[in-house]
Amino acid sequence: MEAVCVAEAGPVTEIGAHGARLTIDLGAIVANWRFLAARGAGADCAAVVKADAYGCGIGRVGPALWAAGCRTFFVAHLSEGVAARAALPEAAIYILNGLPPGAAEAFAAHELRPVLGSIAELSDWAALSSGRLPAALHVDTGMNRLGLPVPEALDLAGDGRITAAGIDLLLSHFVSAEKPEDPVNARQIADFARVRAAYPQLRASLANSSGVFLDGARHDLLRPGYALFGGNPIPGGANPMRPVVRLEALIAQVRDVAVGATAGYNGRWTAPRPSRLATLSLGYADGFPRAVSGRGQALVGGVPCPILGLVSMDLIILDVTAAPAATRGATAVLIGDILDIDAVGRSAGTIGYEILTGLGSRYVRDYVG
Ligand SMILES: *Cc1c(COP(=O)(O)O)cnc(C)c1O
Repeated sequence: MEAVCVAEAGPVTEIGAHGARLTIDLGAIVANWRFLAARGAGADCAAVVKADAYGCGIGRVGPALWAAGCRTFFVAHLSEGVAARAALPEAAIYILNGLPPGAAEAFAAHELRPVLGSIAELSDWAALSSGRLPAALHVDTGMNRLGLPVPEALDLAGDGRITAAGIDLLLSHFVSAEKPEDPVNARQIADFARVRAAYPQLRASLANSSGVFLDGARHDLLRPGYALFGGNPIPGGANPMRPVVRLEALIAQVRDVAVGATAGYNGRWTAPRPSRLATLSLGYADGFPRAVSGRGQALVGGVPCPILGLVSMDLIILDVTAAPAATRGATAVLIGDILDIDAVGRSAGTIGYEILTGLGSRYVRDYVG
C-alpha cells in the first residue's frame, strides 16, 4: 500500500504524518544476494520473494534483484505470482504452493511455473502443458507438508507424465537447515541425492538460506529468502548478512512520573523509581508484535530503552530515564542497529521471519540504495 502523500500539507514531516518510517535498503538486499550467490560454488542463485518479498515489497525488490542478475524467483501463491510477473516480465517464476484445482490456465496466462507436489497436480498440468510449459517437481524428504514422498518420486522417474508436465526442476525443502547439528539434514541430503540421480536430466534445488551453508545441499539452484532480507542464516554464529530493514517511530510525548505510577492499559507496569516515559506513535496495528509488551526494547540516541507495559494499537511507551535524546519529535529505533530482526523476533517469542512478513503498511516506506 502506498503511503498518503503529505508533501503539500504544510511543513509536517512524513514521519510526523504517519507516526513511523520503515527504511528498506535495496542495495543491502542485492549485496546479500551476491554474497549467497558467491557461496553457491557454481550453483545459480534464485530469490524466494513470497509474502510480498518478506514484507519488503516485490515491486521494488524484484527489479533490484533482476538488475543484479537474478533470473529465477519463487513465491507461494498464484496471486503473488501475478504481482511478481508485473515487476519481472522476463523472469522464471515458480509457485511453491502447487497447482490448485482449476488454476492451470491462469498459471499459463501469466507464464507462471507450478511446483507440482502430487500426481493429481502433475496430471492437471500435463493436460494443459503437453510438455510445452515448464514446471518443477516437489519431493518431500521429511517435512510431510508438500511434495511426493521419496518412493513415489523414484517410481515416477522415466514416466511419460514427467515429460508431459514439462518438469525442468526437482526441488525439496529442509526441515531444520538452521540447526546444522540436527541429523535430519544428512538424511534429507542423502534422500534428495538419490532422487536426483533418478532424474539426471533435471536441474535440482534443495538449499534455502541456511541450506546454502550445509555441505552437499547446493546442487544447481539456491533458494534463499530470509537471508536476502538480513536474517541470520547461521543462528549459532555471527550474522554474515547486511541488515535490510530499519523501523523508526516518532516520539509523540515525554513525561516524568513518580514512584508507583503505572503505564498503559491495565497498568501492567509500575514505576519503581521516578522515571521519564516517552510515547511512540507506533503500535500493533503497524505490525509491531504486541508480544514484545514488557520485554522488548527501542533505541533512543543509541541508548536501549525498555518497552513498558502493554503495546497499544497505535502507541508504545518507553522508559527513557537513561536516554537524554528522548524529546518530542525525536525518533526511536524499533528495528535496526543492535535490534536486528532476529533479536526483535526473540523478544516477541517468535522468529525474525514473522517480524518481517508482518511489517505494516501504515507507516511511510522509504527505499534506499
Ligand atoms: C520459504 C521457502 C524457502 C526460503 O526459505 P528461507 O529460510 O527464507 O531462506 C525456500 N524453499 C521453500 C520451499 C520455501 O517454502
